[in-house]
Amino acid sequence: MKKRIVLYKRLSEGLLAQLQAQVEVTWVDMAKPDGLARLRDALPGAHGLLGASLRLDSALLDLAPQLEVVASVSVGVDNYDINDLHRRGVMLTNTPDVLTETTADTGFALLLATARRVVELAGWVRDGHWQASLGPAHFGTDVHGKRLGIVGMGRIGEALARRGAAGFGMQVLYHSQRPKPQVEARYGARYCTLDALLGEADYVCLTVPLSASTEGLIGARELGLMKPEAILVNIARGRVVDEAALIKALRARRIRGAGLDVFVQEPLAQDSPLLQLDNVVATPHIGSATHETREAMARCAVDNLLAALSGQRPPNLVTPGYI
Ligand code: NAP
Repeated sequence: MKKRIVLYKRLSEGLLAQLQAQVEVTWVDMAKPDGLARLRDALPGAHGLLGASLRLDSALLDLAPQLEVVASVSVGVDNYDINDLHRRGVMLTNTPDVLTETTADTGFALLLATARRVVELAGWVRDGHWQASLGPAHFGTDVHGKRLGIVGMGRIGEALARRGAAGFGMQVLYHSQRPKPQVEARYGARYCTLDALLGEADYVCLTVPLSASTEGLIGARELGLMKPEAILVNIARGRVVDEAALIKALRARRIRGAGLDVFVQEPLAQDSPLLQLDNVVATPHIGSATHETREAMARCAVDNLLAALSGQRPPNLVTPGYI
C-alpha cells in the first residue's frame, strides 16, 4: 500500500506526477480560508508532509501520529522545533545549495538598489519629476571598491563574498561562529568580531540562520556601531534584526539605508513605517524566488521525502540520529 503525504506547496506537473507515482497525495491550499482545517483533517493519516512557510507546532504534530518525515521546501528551518520532531522520531529535511546563488543574487540586487537609489529614483522618473539633470540630492554611493561585511559566512555568505570580491572589487570582511580559512584564501576575506565588522563595513549583509543565538543580533547598539553612510541588507530572517530599532535608525539617518527581503511579520503590513522611508528597499521575501530555483528546491524536497519514506537516509537530513 502506498504511503500518504500531505502537500501544502504547489508543485510543477512533472514533480507532482513523480510524487503521485509513489505516494498518495492530499493537496491542501493553505492560501484558502479553510486551508488549516483541511490540513488538520489530513494529518491523522499522513506519513509525510511537503511544503514551506508553515509553523508546524506541537498541536499540529499531535494530530499526525504516523508522521515519518517533514520535507521543507526551504533551507531555513526556523519554522520547526527540531528537538520536538526528533523526540517524535520525525525526520526533517531542507533544501540547501540549490538556492544559494539565487539568494546571493537577491542580496546583491538589494545592495545595489539601495546604494544607487534605484527604486526611489525609478519612481521619481515615473512620477514626472525628471525635468532637468540631477544634482547631489539624488546621487547614490559607490559599491565597487567598498567594504562588504558579511555576517554568517556559510553557503550564501560565501556566494556574496565571491560576487563582492570578483565582481565589484570589494574588500570582504566577515563574522561567523568560526573563521573560514578557505574563504579567506579565495576572496581575500578578513575575519572580524561582529562589532569590528559593523564599525568598518560600508555594506553589512546578514546571512545567518534564525536561531536563539541570532534573534535580535542587530539591535540599537549594533546599528549605533555602523557608519552613518553604511547600508544594511537583510536576506536572512526578519527577527535577526530588531525592526523597531532599525526604523528609528533609518528615520534619524543614523545609517544611510536598508535593503530588506525579510521582516518580523510577513507579509509586511501596509502601514509598516518601513514603507514610509525613502531609504528603504523592501522586497517580498524573494530570496530564492526564480522559476529555476523554486523548481530545483521542490525537486530536492521531493527527493528527500521519497528517500525517507522508502527507508533510505534523505540527502538533506536536518534532524540528527537517523539510519
Ligand atoms: P549556512 O550555510 O548554514 O550558513 C549560515 C552561516 O551562519 C554559518 O556559516 C554559520 O557559521 C553562521 N552563523 C550561525 N549562527 C551564527 C551566529 N550566532 N553568529 C555568527 N554567525 C553565525 O546557511 P545558508 O544556506 O547560507 O543560509 C543562511 C540563511 O539564509 C538560512 O538559514 C535562511 O534563514 C536564510 N535564507 C533566506 C532566503 C530568503 O528568501 N531571503 C533564502 C535562503 C536562505 P559557522 O559556519 O561558523 O557555524
